[in-house]
Amino acid sequence: MNELLVFMCDGAPVRGEIVSIGTAWQAVLERRNDPAPVRKILGDFVGAATLLTASLKFDGTLIIQAQSSGPIQLLVVECRSDLSMRATVKLSVDPDDIAPEASLGELLDANHTGRLVITLDPADREPGQAPYQGIVALQEHRGTGIKPVSSAAEAIALYMKNSEQLDTRIWLSSNETHIGGLLLQRLPDSGGHAHLDPQVAAEGWSRIQTLGETITDEELLTLPPSTILRRLFLEESAENGVRSFPPRPIRFSCRCSRSKVADILRMLGEEEVQSILAEQGLVETTCDFCAKPYRFDAVDCQQVFKTDLLSDATRPPSRGH
Ligand SMILES: [Zn+2]
Repeated sequence: MNELLVFMCDGAPVRGEIVSIGTAWQAVLERRNDPAPVRKILGDFVGAATLLTASLKFDGTLIIQAQSSGPIQLLVVECRSDLSMRATVKLSVDPDDIAPEASLGELLDANHTGRLVITLDPADREPGQAPYQGIVALQEHRGTGIKPVSSAAEAIALYMKNSEQLDTRIWLSSNETHIGGLLLQRLPDSGGHAHLDPQVAAEGWSRIQTLGETITDEELLTLPPSTILRRLFLEESAENGVRSFPPRPIRFSCRCSRSKVADILRMLGEEEVQSILAEQGLVETTCDFCAKPYRFDAVDCQQVFKTDLLSDATRPPSRGH
């Protein structure tokens, strides 16, 4: 089961999404060897990335990055508009040193350095135009105290509060084999739901949230989205109508390639690459997302820098004198 279901409520200005990911999540995990509490955080963020991507109004890529001074140094989840995704984590400590019950705050907000960066990169972005990026600290300042966020859902909620105009609620759950998530978004009162009286609209949003709050981790992790939708919104469905769209498939997919690794080698520079060759006889690297190995021997490396010269020569001459 790897699918995402979008639904709309007729009696409330609400758009919702339910996601369930099984084998696509297992495909991420089988390439990695992260300790349990890290897997849990990664799983929740993968669920969040698919839910947020499905609510984008353009074609492109959504990237969630969580960064801190440790033990999770960097966590990256990328999801494209077609709901293909990949994910990776970089630890700054030995995986064996991470306690089985370590919290998100301990892993991602050491010394209150944690931050969440969400990047929206439209497919048709003009060269030179920067992608949209929002950043939020992974702590809440309450009075004189600083409290680290306790879950990925809370981190996303904090981000939404800081950057979105639309009210959004999100529930996430993940384990060794499955990820489940629910997202509710309040649509503007004007627009598609212009027929709703403002008070009816406000009551509707509050009613749908109350129904959403009854979702359990068990349901999110074991039931298909269509069953969750029926269970949660049975009454709403009978009285006002809840419409769902055909489920969308989610898959694991990595976009790494030999030519992208060659680009990295060019960035390192010929001198650096030659010194690695001299030392190890081979330049070897592994994709952080899918663990695919890439090997470049002396002849391959020569090729890499030869192509660089060629592309230099084909660059248009700079204008002016
Ligand atoms: Zn890869």
